[in-house]
Amino acid sequence: MHPQELAQLFDHVPQANWNGELLPLTEVRVSVLDRAFLFGDAIYEVMRLYGGRAFLREDHLQRLQRNLEKMAFPAEAAVIAARMDDTIAASGVQEGMIYVQVTRGVAVRTHRFPEPAPEPNVLIYVSRFSDPYTTLRSQGVPVITVPDLRWKRCDIKSVNLLANCMAAQQAHEAGCPEALLVNEQGELIEGSRTSLFGVRDGEILTAPLGPNILPGITRRFLMQLADDCQLSLAEQTLHASKLNLVDELFLTGTTTEILPIIAVNNIPIGNGTVGPVTQRLLQAYQERVEAFRKQPV
Ligand code: PLP
Repeated sequence: MHPQELAQLFDHVPQANWNGELLPLTEVRVSVLDRAFLFGDAIYEVMRLYGGRAFLREDHLQRLQRNLEKMAFPAEAAVIAARMDDTIAASGVQEGMIYVQVTRGVAVRTHRFPEPAPEPNVLIYVSRFSDPYTTLRSQGVPVITVPDLRWKRCDIKSVNLLANCMAAQQAHEAGCPEALLVNEQGELIEGSRTSLFGVRDGEILTAPLGPNILPGITRRFLMQLADDCQLSLAEQTLHASKLNLVDELFLTGTTTEILPIIAVNNIPIGNGTVGPVTQRLLQAYQERVEAFRKQPV
């Protein structure tokens, strides 16, 4: 597709940074021999910008660094962080999101990692973001459950998201904004692009970290918020067959923030409205975002 045709698909063309060079996203060109294209050999990060600054920036950069190491990509999160700052500044975006993707780079096609290691390709772009969840956060949303078809290293934030995309599509076709992934033991792991929390008898519950789950940055932030609000929380997996015992359920994610769930597979959770613990956390989250906006740069 021609860059001009591509640009017409956007309401604005995001500012990109391709290997350190600033240019419009529609003008970035990548080789078909890039291993992300051939093998999905790439990792990514998404951060939310409030008032022109990346929220929970250090946590995201630490996860990025961990993923670079897990994948043995010769790239440094600190270098990428400096490029991120340049890209945000060039974009002028205040309310937005920043996407970072690092690929193993371009090489002759071979399954094993190429030697010598190619230079990783680093894409960053900043786009405006208008929050689609504002109303849904106060009303709550229905979700469906789907089998978790993903691979066994979901702790790596890899661009291999086909099973997640299929789950999200199934949810969309069912008129729901998200699908909960259920493993073979009937455990609720997380959403297709969100972390999952429940509330039972006043205690907040979420699945423990492990290779089957993404260590969500918002998940961790939520745990700190719960602590600040003096709410008790345990890392305990929720079971699909025991949802009738759960009083509240909600999702977290970088762009989702906190999203209450009021029904699963058409069965109401609790009394089918947004519960008091979720409301308290929603309020605390908003307060933290407002405080972040006011922080001096
Ligand atoms: N779980 C999965 C599978 C995800 O893809 C995501 C985000 O993309 C999350 C959880 C939420 O993670 P974070 O809070 O870091 O955005």
